[in-house]
Amino acid sequence: MRLHADTVDQVSQRVDIVDVVSEHVVLRKSGTAFRGACPFHKGSNASAFSVDPKRQMYRCFNCQAAGGAIKF
Ligand SMILES: [Zn+2]
Repeated sequence: MRLHADTVDQVSQRVDIVDVVSEHVVLRKSGTAFRGACPFHKGSNASAFSVDPKRQMYRCFNCQAAGGAIKF
């Protein structure tokens, strides 16, 4: 089965990145975003990884990992 671009867009709008990420990472609310330990590299400090619920994006300031709910 092929996924059209429209279908992917709909899925990414329906899935909340905070829900997806928090299944793997303990997140703490920090202002408008959430912060936690990065799951993509070892030895991260507890706030290098941030999730922005408004933009539905995650980013790590240490290893530069970034993306949306689908890619996570
Ligand atoms: Zn990282």
